[in-house]
Amino acid sequence: MEFVHSFGFFTLLSLISPIDASDSWSYSGNTGPSYWVNSYATCGGSSQTPINLEGGEYDPNLGNITFTGYSAADSGTTYILENNGHTAKVGFQSSTSMSISDGGLSGTYKVLQFHAHWGRNGSGEGSEHYKDGKPYPAEIHIVHYRNSYADSTAAVDQPEGLAVLGIFLEQGSVENTKYSPFINALSNIPDSGQNFTMSGFALGDLLPSDTSKYFRYSGGLTTPPCYESIVWTVFNEPVSLSMTQMDALRTLNYEDGSTMQDNTRPLQNLNGRDITASWDGAHHVAVSFALILLVFVFHLF
Ligand SMILES: [Zn+2]
Repeated sequence: MEFVHSFGFFTLLSLISPIDASDSWSYSGNTGPSYWVNSYATCGGSSQTPINLEGGEYDPNLGNITFTGYSAADSGTTYILENNGHTAKVGFQSSTSMSISDGGLSGTYKVLQFHAHWGRNGSGEGSEHYKDGKPYPAEIHIVHYRNSYADSTAAVDQPEGLAVLGIFLEQGSVENTKYSPFINALSNIPDSGQNFTMSGFALGDLLPSDTSKYFRYSGGLTTPPCYESIVWTVFNEPVSLSMTQMDALRTLNYEDGSTMQDNTRPLQNLNGRDITASWDGAHHVAVSFALILLVFVFHLF
């Protein structure tokens, strides 16, 4: 009863909250990304996401991120998996103890939800961020809100109100059993609006093995209303999923019954923003690649 009551309230909040406002936007046609700005002015802002991550300048202040409550299932919250018509999302309650801090963040950020973006089979595209000019087949976003705000609704449009971890997914030959609890539960939510309370699992299982190397920049939500409130962290090392696991994402449907895929916003302009990196080398790789290209071009003449 307690659960039913709080869930009903949660659903009501989703309906009136701007973060899930309506299905008036989509990823294609006349409600696709280029039209979002007509209904959501901030989507035309100058600090939008996603971007191509390239040439990150080393910032020694970007030390290791501290992950709290990430190493085991959190018994203080339920894990509610939802097909919200745009993605597969796992939401947590504010009673969760899962949070991140350090790593150049200016406070502690509590976990709110995570979700995925992915492409169509065989395209090799599907991530929102690019790295060195190339996409990955999929990307996970773990969304956190700053714990100095009363709740996520208060934080969502505030400067640095949110901190999101981006994880690139690549396709490998082996099943990634750390992702199995999430991937296997997707069969319960094929259609838009469906929910499923899944078993808890360690959120840290979603992270790459090396979390010390990451890019950092200021951006926003990649979906309407596109608030520019996010401290973005995107890990350099991708996580590998099997083809079968990738395909499981494409068993979901959009509201119109078509296959949920290519739920990605196109790249946005950097507009002079800094991209920094937690390790010394991200920049050098880009520079040496440019040098090699230059030498090659000269060689042609
Ligand atoms: Zn996202």
